[in-house]
Amino acid sequence: MSRALHSWGCYPYAPQTGHVCHWQSDVAAHAGNIVRLRGSTLPYGNGRSYGDSCLAFTSQVLHMRGLDRFIQADWVNGLVCVEAGITLAEIFAITLPRGWFLPVTPGTQFVTCGGAIANDVHGKNHHRRGTFGAHVLRFGLMRHGVETVICSRDEHPDLFAATIGGLGLTGVIVWAEIRLIPVRSSQIERTVMRFGELAEFFALSAERDAHHEYSVAWIDCLAKGRRRGRGVFIVGDHAQEGELTAAVPSRWYMPATPPFSMVNELSLRVFNEGYWRAHPARRTRDRIGMQPFFYPLDRILHWNRIYGRRGFQQYQCVIPEGAAKDALGELLRVIADSGQGSFLSVLKRCGEIVSPGLLSFPLPGVSLALDFPHNARLELELFPRLDAIVRAGGGRLYPAKDAHMSGKDFRCSYPRWEQLEALRDPALMSRFWKRVTAV
Ligand SMILES: Cc1cc2nc3c(=O)[nH]c(=O)nc-3n(C[C@H](O)[C@H](O)[C@H](O)COP(=O)(O)OP(=O)(O)OC[C@H]3O[C@@H](n4cnc5c(N)ncnc54)[C@H](O)[C@@H]3O)c2cc1C
Repeated sequence: MSRALHSWGCYPYAPQTGHVCHWQSDVAAHAGNIVRLRGSTLPYGNGRSYGDSCLAFTSQVLHMRGLDRFIQADWVNGLVCVEAGITLAEIFAITLPRGWFLPVTPGTQFVTCGGAIANDVHGKNHHRRGTFGAHVLRFGLMRHGVETVICSRDEHPDLFAATIGGLGLTGVIVWAEIRLIPVRSSQIERTVMRFGELAEFFALSAERDAHHEYSVAWIDCLAKGRRRGRGVFIVGDHAQEGELTAAVPSRWYMPATPPFSMVNELSLRVFNEGYWRAHPARRTRDRIGMQPFFYPLDRILHWNRIYGRRGFQQYQCVIPEGAAKDALGELLRVIADSGQGSFLSVLKRCGEIVSPGLLSFPLPGVSLALDFPHNARLELELFPRLDAIVRAGGGRLYPAKDAHMSGKDFRCSYPRWEQLEALRDPALMSRFWKRVTAV
């Protein structure tokens, strides 16, 4: 067994007992024992989901991190077959020196391959490459009491679609085959532009996204009046030449969880104002390492501890294209008026590429993500107001980040949830699924 495991936001607080799997045979053995004694379990990758989607209903999880090996690699065509508990950082430590990179990466390199498939994660290039699941060719899926099933677009296509974005409920992914992209350098050519209001973000995104592999914007969520929606727009592309090295692990870490949150209205105002001013008004171009470009937050290990023992919640929504401008303006107005907000509020445009996954989160439109220190008022006052705006705009929330969405909102915004339920492995159940499917 491993030490008690949590979700990234540590809210809800529900410590999990991890049954460590080092070999594929451990998965079936541990699952068999847990199911016999408790009734159900859930695979757990590296706990980078914020809310309760990685927490087992019984608090007994299959801890997959020990399954972290390469099974096969084709360095000519850029295909790798890896065990599901390997992290993205461990994958590109091997592939990058050979000139291959992952086609899609989220904002942290510490997620496992299984977790990336189960949440069908997206990155700064959704407008060009879609989600992680779009680049998965095949995987081995272990369902309770059955031989491992190989799933692809041709073999068991129903289970393939249900498992991508399937929140770990259709079976345990034990290995996966992924297609990589060729790169000539691990460095990124970056262009940074400040913008003064939300309308400028939309103009920049419309003008620039098509020309760049990566595009993202940071936004000052506390700015009001004419400054509302001001931010920093960042685009990037892999450099055409240069070193091909994976990042050096961070030496900085938050050593312990303080009893109270270090994030409050004052520290947020100072940070947001300082971050805005730190970027020059004129457009700048530079070349930067992949680590600070893709994973700025990974520089400080265990940074989630700054939120104290009560933890924090992320609010990530996506609003379809037509409604995005008005709905995002309204969301930012309500957040700024509440005085509650986030260090890093991120805007990303999601593109048209349709995921093979049944319950994939992105829609063509714009996604907004913010972190809030947990407090009782969030769920009583702020989140219901934000949810109403998202609902009216035809948007939805991201299960990987969620700890509060109502069952009704989930079932309306993910209408294919019943198809997943029909294919769910009865031995697997999360706190999230129990919460949002209870009628
Ligand atoms: C700093 C930070 C930035 C992030 N940025 C982004 C982003 O830009 N885009 C984005 O999409 N997400 C982002 N995320 C969320 C994160 O990418 C996802 O939550 C990811 O799925 C977590 O992977 P994990 O390995 O930690 O899995 P966990 O969080 O442990 O589990 C996630 C889900 O995967 C299931 N699962 C895990 N392993 C397996 C397996 N072997 N077989 C079947 N199911 C399995 C679990 O049951 C659970 O439902 C971010 C998270 C953090 C902390």
